Amino acid sequence: MKTIDKIYINGAFVTPCGTEFFELVNPTTNEPLGKVVLGDEEDTRKAIASAKTAFVRFSKTTKEERIAYLQKMYYAVAKRKEELTAIMVQEYGGTLQFSTASTQHALNGIQSVIETLRNYEFVRSIGKSKVRLEPLGVVGIITPWNASNSFICNKLATAIAAGCTAVIKPSEMSALQTQVLLECLHEAGLPAGVFNVVNGLGNVVGAEITRHPDIAKVSFTGSTVVGKTIARGAVDTMKRVTLELGGKSPNIILDDADLQQAIPTAIAAAFMNSGQACIAGTRLLVPENRLDEIKTLVKETVEKVKVGDPKNEDTVVGPMVSKKQYARVQQYIDLGVQEGAEILTGGAGQPEGLEAGNFVKPTVFVNVNNKMRIAREEIFGPVLSIITYKNEDDAISIANDTDYGLQAYVSSSDSIRANRVAAQINAGRVLINGLNHDPMAPFGGFKQSGIGREFGVYGLEAYLEVKAVIE
Ligand code: NAD
Repeated sequence: MKTIDKIYINGAFVTPCGTEFFELVNPTTNEPLGKVVLGDEEDTRKAIASAKTAFVRFSKTTKEERIAYLQKMYYAVAKRKEELTAIMVQEYGGTLQFSTASTQHALNGIQSVIETLRNYEFVRSIGKSKVRLEPLGVVGIITPWNASNSFICNKLATAIAAGCTAVIKPSEMSALQTQVLLECLHEAGLPAGVFNVVNGLGNVVGAEITRHPDIAKVSFTGSTVVGKTIARGAVDTMKRVTLELGGKSPNIILDDADLQQAIPTAIAAAFMNSGQACIAGTRLLVPENRLDEIKTLVKETVEKVKVGDPKNEDTVVGPMVSKKQYARVQQYIDLGVQEGAEILTGGAGQPEGLEAGNFVKPTVFVNVNNKMRIAREEIFGPVLSIITYKNEDDAISIANDTDYGLQAYVSSSDSIRANRVAAQINAGRVLINGLNHDPMAPFGGFKQSGIGREFGVYGLEAYLEVKAVIE
């Protein structure tokens, strides 16, 4: 049992004004893991004041100095890589495979920020003007529980690269992971006040960050509902916002796709992080004339997916993060049946022998049409809907018939055709024939999947203000 009773302000672990605690529970067993103190508005204001003071100096550091800080950050996180992964497995039931990748993703993110910064010019000549790219100021970083450390690392590294300082509000549900990361960041020796961490609830600490006049920008990853609340709250002080929100990603299997490759990839895309991923490919769009073949292959593949203890190396689907999330996924499975969809495999209830934790049966629906709620709403669990299409145009139109637009997937044996389809999909990222990740490529959503981009040059510029000086 661990107790986290400090928050981090101005380079030191301090006792907060807030005295309430949030109980942490292991989702694999539902046994208690520990508790974390919840900071309040006053704690948040102190953290903001510390970041504001630090900004005066930090905004004037050179690019080389900031690269050196980022390198220290990288090494400090890399040193405790295994521990960061293990705590992720324990605290939110992220599978060992996913948690290992996520920690590596955090490191790759820092590395890509260093590379971007190295090649970036902060002063340019455009027309008759000098254009200066200047750090925005104090940035509020608000993150979700899923893969939380990789979000914090990427956002903080980008803020540092730009010369900004930060106040971080991690999800209360990922407090143990944040604590280990925080110890790494503390060890990295960044100047006091450059980053501050206030554990606490969204409607308390998050809301104070959103409304405070000394916060220049909020970088948020989380649900679309909360993203809208933040966008509304940010307007009064005209804060910049980067919002990385939900998704309902389409995966188009074109009729010439190699199914032996495309279907296992589709299942991996749908069930990544046990389906608790914003980029999960949850709508599988398949050609009508290959439906039977695809159904057989999907059923076979899903029934081989290992569900169980996230610590085991071969586990693909672990527990849902909380009892609440478990109940939500079960409700959607019931809803799918009520809406007239048919269960191909899985279904309501728990897998046998796993009743202690928040486990869900990996579930695939067929006979789904894109108007059903299971095809429109983000479920955030291992639930996949198979939807048929008639031709390429129909596939594109179904793919785009969604409020979201975060990521999409296309499988085809013809690269020209796959690229033609990719060009017509309204999503921030389209992956062709696989699950490749590129940390230099921009990431973010069309439509209600968000505002702005992270990673690479686009990510860095989201932390900069543009000034033209005309002499
Ligand atoms: P959430 O929106 O409930 O919470 C995210 C963060 O916002 C938490 O730290 C929470 O405490 C805080 N928050 C809650 N209310 C707030 C308020 N009123 N003001 C300010 N902050 C507030 O999301 P979650 O359940 O932690 O995470 C799952 C969601 O995140 C899913 O919808 C998923 O799609 C999304 N997500 C998006 C991305 C992406 O990159 N686009 C990545 C991961 C997760």
